[in-house]
Amino acid sequence: MSDQDWHRVFNSKAAKLNKPDSWKLLFDDTIEATEAGWGEYIRSVFSRFSCSCCGHKWASSKVQMVFHMRLDTSNHQGTVRVRRYRQNCKTCPGAAFEKPTVSTMDLEKVMDKLMEKILVKCYQEESNTPSRPFQPERVLKGPHLSGHCEACIKGICTLSG
Ligand SMILES: [Zn+2]
Ligand SMILES: [Zn+2]
Repeated sequence: MSDQDWHRVFNSKAAKLNKPDSWKLLFDDTIEATEAGWGEYIRSVFSRFSCSCCGHKWASSKVQMVFHMRLDTSNHQGTVRVRRYRQNCKTCPGAAFEKPTVSTMDLEKVMDKLMEKILVKCYQEESNTPSRPFQPERVLKGPHLSGHCEACIKGICTLSG
């Protein structure tokens, strides 16, 4: 799923909120921690990676995605910023960190949950669907390579420690 797909799925879900506000999604790799005035939603998502240096491909069942959301009621403008934590190749020394790629199905689920969070945090509505824990579709065996996980390096990865 490309960044365009993220925008497309986000826009179609946001339209179904049926609110007089318009919502936009921004990619922001500078998000570090909870910010005053912003709601927060953090989720681990199964993702695939591909090294732009050697072409090596790998997958990780827990890739941290951090969403911050805010509604400017006077301008009817809602903003969601997302940071998708990256990983780098274990075989290339000093390889660049690569963006995670998420499946259509997982992206739909993440966006559905994000919309519930927006209703709760920005419209003070309780979601009418019972809160289900997010079930990862696939769990990978094998060690988590903390040295190649950007979230581990930043100290916020749920698999670190
Ligand atoms: Zn590589
Ligand atoms: Zn990690």
